[in-house]
Amino acid sequence: MNIQEIFSALDMDQGILASGDYKISSPVDGKVIANLKLDSKDDVEKKIAAAADAFKAWRRLPAPQRGELVRIYGEELRKHKETLGALITLECGKIISEGQGEVQEMIDICDFAVGLSRQLYGLTIASERPNHALRESWHPMGPVGVISAFNFPMAVWAWNSALALVCGDPVIWKPSEKTPLCALACQHLLDKAIARFGNAPEGLSSVIIGEREVGEQLVDDKRVPLISATGSCAMGRVVGQRVAARFGKSILELGGNNAIIVAESADLDMATRAIVFGAVGTAGQRCTTTRRIFAHDSIYDELLSRLKAAYKQLPIGNPQEAGTLIGPLIDGRSYEQMEQALADAKAKGCDVYGGGRALEKEFPQAYYVNPAIVEGGKAMTNNAHETFAPILYFFRYSDLEEAIERQNDVPQGLSSAIFTLNMREAELFTSAVGSDCGIANVNVGTSGAEIGGAFGGEKETGGGRESGSDSWKAYMRRSTATVNYSSELPLAQGIKFDL
Ligand code: NAD
Repeated sequence: MNIQEIFSALDMDQGILASGDYKISSPVDGKVIANLKLDSKDDVEKKIAAAADAFKAWRRLPAPQRGELVRIYGEELRKHKETLGALITLECGKIISEGQGEVQEMIDICDFAVGLSRQLYGLTIASERPNHALRESWHPMGPVGVISAFNFPMAVWAWNSALALVCGDPVIWKPSEKTPLCALACQHLLDKAIARFGNAPEGLSSVIIGEREVGEQLVDDKRVPLISATGSCAMGRVVGQRVAARFGKSILELGGNNAIIVAESADLDMATRAIVFGAVGTAGQRCTTTRRIFAHDSIYDELLSRLKAAYKQLPIGNPQEAGTLIGPLIDGRSYEQMEQALADAKAKGCDVYGGGRALEKEFPQAYYVNPAIVEGGKAMTNNAHETFAPILYFFRYSDLEEAIERQNDVPQGLSSAIFTLNMREAELFTSAVGSDCGIANVNVGTSGAEIGGAFGGEKETGGGRESGSDSWKAYMRRSTATVNYSSELPLAQGIKFDL
């Protein structure tokens, strides 16, 4: 589908595609697919003010009714799953099944949020004073600013907005400047859902289109108590500090540098499949992409040769075609960063397998690449930097505790995995002295989390958690209430203060 077909299938105004002069090109072939109007400072100001107003009404609606809006939105997503997936493929370059999978993830989080809207529970706590009740409640917090990365152009917003809306918070979304059409399509469907719902205030959800400047305006605004920012560690370092400077709250979901330890007893068929999907899927452009392997001495050669054999037959190509498994990088800058990282590894004395541009003749303006494996050898025993491209660093280990230490010895802490059939190794890896990442899997790769768990990572990955488990608490404020139903006024800690 081309962009006009997508817009008409979604019943969107085609005029948007030529509304300004900010060029949006498709990574599939590098061609311009839209010229958009960017939001001005004034536009952003109006959207924030509208969200602050909307909050006053939205927080009054009982949470299960707020859930009803998300239920209707989920229906719109189900209706348009194929078209939205095609838009992700066109604007972000994901293969068809990954585009569809991203929309499925949005549908799943809507279902989760609908159930959650009846379960925003607090606590009752035993009071130390007679005839007193001590309880904790969770209340709506205010507008949530969502800043998202190009590589999950829809799902990251859905994780945030489905929860925020049931929690009673309006949402202002600043998507990546590389994938604004995905954002406009999601907002269009939410507007449809809002119209069907019939009882939502103006300004409950909006999108601001622009680069980092409009993001910073959102980040600095006190009327937005929570900023949920997904992107690079460099972005998070700026955003986290700016939000903290005004005593705002933030959820930071930043870069990863994810490793798999493949132990002596590993099922190598499973490990090979998980590594290939994790390392080259989405052309290495997932925050959970497998970037490092620590292979036990005893299986090192076997695993490496299996991976090289798999890398020889990777179907690299147009992501819009069935059968393609590796689509393009997002742009030329990503390609240059990949080449630079491979040149650095070679300069250090590592063996580099693969790399370089693919399909250049067919797509001269797009950036398809051959995924690469860097064998660390003696020259390199670890890699600390996330290059957002399909490069897999391959290292050797002999002692598991030392491998876990090396795995943890990087600035990021998002996803990790071990392949082992040894129960002691598996338990050690997931224990308090094991992987220090937010995600620690056993016989499951690093990439592709389910929505039911809390998603996020430690250290420079930012510490935020989104999606399942009790992540919803980050979108609400906690209120502790002590209620005295006696006719006495006893003070806490037995303090006497009688005149
Ligand atoms: P990026 O950091 O370049 O941009 C992300 C978003 O931040 C964009 O919308 C951008 O406009 C905005 N931004 C940048 N600087 C800003 C500032 N100072 N103030 C406000 N907004 C600002 O990231 P990207 O290239 O789009 O995405 C790739 C990165 O995102 C990788 O590092 C990847 O690991 C990470 N990522 C993390 C997760 C996660 O959940 N941990 C998920 C997806 C992507």
